[in-house]
Amino acid sequence: MNATASVGKKVAVIGAGLAGISAALRLLQHGHQVCLFEAAPQAGGRARGVPHHTTLLDNGQHLCIGAYRATLTLLQEAQLESGQVFMRLPLTLHMHHGTQRMSLVTPAWLPAPLHLLWGLLTAQGLDWHSKWRAICWMQQLKQQAFTLAQDIPVAELLRQGQQTPFAIRTLWEPLCLAALNTPIIFASAQIFLNVLRDSFQHRRQDSDFLVVKTDLSSALIQPLLQRIQESGGEVRLRCPVTAIKTTDAGCELSTTTDVAIFDNVIIAAGPHQLKTMTGVAIPAFDYQPITTVYLQYSTETRLPHAIMGLCHGLAQWVFDRGQCCDQAGLLAVVISAHPPLIADKTALVAQCIAEINLALSTYHCSLPAQPLWSQIITEKRATFSCTPSLQRPTTHTADPHIFLAGDYVAGPYPATIEGAVSSGFAAAQAIIDSADLTR
Ligand SMILES: Cc1cc2nc3c(=O)[nH]c(=O)nc-3n(C[C@H](O)[C@H](O)[C@H](O)COP(=O)(O)OP(=O)(O)OC[C@H]3O[C@@H](n4cnc5c(N)ncnc54)[C@H](O)[C@@H]3O)c2cc1C
Repeated sequence: MNATASVGKKVAVIGAGLAGISAALRLLQHGHQVCLFEAAPQAGGRARGVPHHTTLLDNGQHLCIGAYRATLTLLQEAQLESGQVFMRLPLTLHMHHGTQRMSLVTPAWLPAPLHLLWGLLTAQGLDWHSKWRAICWMQQLKQQAFTLAQDIPVAELLRQGQQTPFAIRTLWEPLCLAALNTPIIFASAQIFLNVLRDSFQHRRQDSDFLVVKTDLSSALIQPLLQRIQESGGEVRLRCPVTAIKTTDAGCELSTTTDVAIFDNVIIAAGPHQLKTMTGVAIPAFDYQPITTVYLQYSTETRLPHAIMGLCHGLAQWVFDRGQCCDQAGLLAVVISAHPPLIADKTALVAQCIAEINLALSTYHCSLPAQPLWSQIITEKRATFSCTPSLQRPTTHTADPHIFLAGDYVAGPYPATIEGAVSSGFAAAQAIIDSADLTR
């Protein structure tokens, strides 16, 4: 889709997270001039690699799904092989609740949604009542096109859908936390249903898990930045935008070092980062944290599964990065949407290991109490709280030259890579359309 625009506009994109990167690439493909400003020394925003000793960790362990259409389109447009960026795992859940285990495996040979039906029917460790209620509920949701007349909290949706406490604990709650990073008592049922619909109702591969093969920076962000530069885009790292002013000449953009004029601006910084540079009014959001506890063990350490769900304590998931990301012996423990954690780092690491070991006891194995090293990364504003009927700003602002992009911009998805990429594409498209109009 290499279009040539009749009017190449000069566009500033502020913020080199995935929203800004997607907007920049789309604009360049349509023949516009792009300067991408990033305040930090590296691109990627919340989806970035973080060096630790000789290893590259991620700012937080990320998981994508096959239904992330915009994300996969981004890779395609940047001529990146999705198979080189992501490891694709067919939907398989191995959930652990104390010494109970629930395993749901979907077969590759059945189309959606039959693969899920099969997975639910054959799930190990899920009682027949829970299976039956889950299947009936899925059928009911399908009949109502996964749409609610009025948005409600996920916990209420599950209650109305008569889901059993065990299915909630081992299936729906972990999926909701993974997708929305918001506790089920506050989370938006409609947004959760959007994710379920896109994952389960169309193609079987939509429900696949996609795990970045190495770290986010090397596998995803660096190749995308390189593509921007090869396409003629300018990337300015360590260059925070301090003010945007609309004048007769265009949008005047100030950084700490200079001032430049652009035809259009896409602000792809977080909503809390906006105030310092512009008068664009954005409602305040509440945020949810994510903590990732990295545990490095000896290289021969291997978990029974690449991804294991934990439903009995602080942590929700443990990723074996040896199996997913070619980082043998490195485990990433994900703690989503949790109020302040155990402040003592040693105690938090010990708690994570104890929770993994409780799950591993069902396989008759365990991890040593002391890893070789550990590293805790907490992102306090990992995502906005995705609550029912949340008002999110649109791509367009009151100023026709300035557009918004970012995972918080109105759309069907929660704060995710997919939401960020879609919003970047939408902002770029608004400029492309306005350029076409001036032909
Ligand atoms: C720990 C963690 C785990 C996550 N897990 C998942 C997951 O499993 N799956 C998933 O899909 N999503 C996940 N997410 C969410 C996902 O990372 C985000 O939704 C996405 O990266 C947001 O991209 P963005 O471009 O909208 O914003 P950001 O990544 O926040 O980018 C904004 C950029 O703007 C820059 N900026 C700010 N102010 C200025 C300024 N004045 N001038 C220039 N630049 C500026 C910032 O430095 C930043 O780089 C996770 C997030 C975190 C933190």
